[in-house]
Amino acid sequence: MDICKSCEYQWSYKESLKMLGFKRGVKCPNCGQKQYLTTESIWYGSMLFILIYFFAWIPLRALYFYYDLPLVLIIVIAVILLFIPLLLWPKYMKLSNKEEPLF
Ligand SMILES: [Zn+2]
Repeated sequence: MDICKSCEYQWSYKESLKMLGFKRGVKCPNCGQKQYLTTESIWYGSMLFILIYFFAWIPLRALYFYYDLPLVLIIVIAVILLFIPLLLWPKYMKLSNKEEPLF
């Protein structure tokens, strides 16, 4: 977890999770200064999703076609997989005082 760029307060995992909401910027629980995700963190998080899905897709297809697992079970596994990057991301996200452009 990263520190606040304004007061150097160490954000907890739970506080970092708030960054995943749809709001732009989250107030630092210590100093109240809004913190934003760096462009790099946003890209990193997106890559995490793509990679996990890319690598999960092939075994999931195999399970469905060759082992006759019910589709419902495949969907449940896919949903669980969606949470892995979400839970990992706060550990690696970097904070910034300014909102950075995506490109
Ligand atoms: Zn702060």
